[in-house]
Amino acid sequence: MDQDKGASAPRRDALKLGLSAGVGVGVVVMAGIAYSQSTKLSKDSVKYTDAGNIEGKDCDDCSQYVPGKSGNDPATCKIVEGPINPHGHCIAFSPKPKG
Ligand code: SF4
Repeated sequence: MDQDKGASAPRRDALKLGLSAGVGVGVVVMAGIAYSQSTKLSKDSVKYTDAGNIEGKDCDDCSQYVPGKSGNDPATCKIVEGPINPHGHCIAFSPKPKG
């Protein structure tokens, strides 16, 4: 009887280890998904507005601005989520380098 307990202990340990590894992988995957979904700032957090009212500080004057690939594609921002209006503005504005 004691031999059975001795023989099953390593199996139990292996099961625990496997379960722990599985849970660990799941946590890493979930963290990766959460990270990829939160790499950009929300519009609210940077006080984004579709209609900027400061001369020379519209989104299309900003170094973070990414124009749409075609005329129909919306512009985006490197750091703020969602589509961006070329004439928008937010508190993270940073001027394009002059050159
Ligand atoms: S950082 Fe702000 S101002 Fe600059 S493009 Fe993105 S949303 Fe517009």
